[in-house]
Amino acid sequence: MIRRYVKKWLHLPSCTTDHLFYTSTAMGGLGLPRLSKSAPCSRINTKRAVLNSKDENITSFVKTTGIEDEIRDTADKLNIRIPSNPKQPATWRKNEEKEWAAQPAAGKGRKHFEHKCSNSWLQAGSKYLREGDIISALQVRADTYPTRVALARADGREDITCRRCKTAPETGGHISGHCPAMKGYRINRHNGIVETLCDRLKSKGWLVSKEPQMRDAEGKLWIPDIIAVKDGKAVLIDPTVVYESNGDALSRANQAKVRKYLHLVPVIKEQFGVTEVTVRGLAVGARGGWCKGNAKTMEIVGLNDKGLHSFICRFALRGTLNLLRIFTDGRGPGARTATAPMGL
Ligand SMILES: [Zn+2]
Repeated sequence: MIRRYVKKWLHLPSCTTDHLFYTSTAMGGLGLPRLSKSAPCSRINTKRAVLNSKDENITSFVKTTGIEDEIRDTADKLNIRIPSNPKQPATWRKNEEKEWAAQPAAGKGRKHFEHKCSNSWLQAGSKYLREGDIISALQVRADTYPTRVALARADGREDITCRRCKTAPETGGHISGHCPAMKGYRINRHNGIVETLCDRLKSKGWLVSKEPQMRDAEGKLWIPDIIAVKDGKAVLIDPTVVYESNGDALSRANQAKVRKYLHLVPVIKEQFGVTEVTVRGLAVGARGGWCKGNAKTMEIVGLNDKGLHSFICRFALRGTLNLLRIFTDGRGPGARTATAPMGL
């Protein structure tokens, strides 16, 4: 009932995964109550408390009543998780995340949203996104944003080719990451993250070179996004925005950046007069996802500030929402985007 109302209120299509509603907000859902699970779950916890009573007379008596089978049956039926440690309560919400992640379309990229910084815009009372953007963001997260591919799943339409470039199926990933018609907006989204990082690095005392030009031993020109120098050490950081797909797309993107720039280490040493060079990528999800390895990168440069990590995730998400809106509204590249950095 609540779910149906919220679906209507948020203009989410009826095919939207239920797990979006019940997964906790910290993990990228709406954290709604689910009485059909929460009530039996608390009954299970009461029964477990009796079963694990310190009074052996009580425990041996209740065991004869079949209470253990009852707990197991209810837990299996409702997918309630029972921890092996009797002191930990049984839970149902954690399994919502798992079931969501297992869904072929709606669960794509889910692991990237299992970081608090990816979901700051979902926290109660947060005003980071406007109402219309929240609805679009939820659609993007549940893979129901009305691209032709998503619409075909709902209404069976045959033409799923990108309405702009006509070269690939029109998916969120194509529009966000590959469609040539959206190139300018993609660059704006990326540049906004680079600018934010440069500003924050400078505030931490790093000497920052944005897009420095350097030539490798073969004379080939390379232009990484950022080289930050402090105390005889340099850190090359090359941010990238990646659409969260199956597997560990963001980690792979970070590794690819290291492979791309590692050979520049001797050049950086010479050009910047440093003795130590670290090469890092900073892959941010187009749908606001985050990657565990990014925390390490931010720690290396002293930007281990969760507020900043959340800001970067929101910035990428807002850039993608803007890009998708421009794509579907039919405005051409070159129009102003709404991706100017927001205040922290
Ligand atoms: Zn296209």
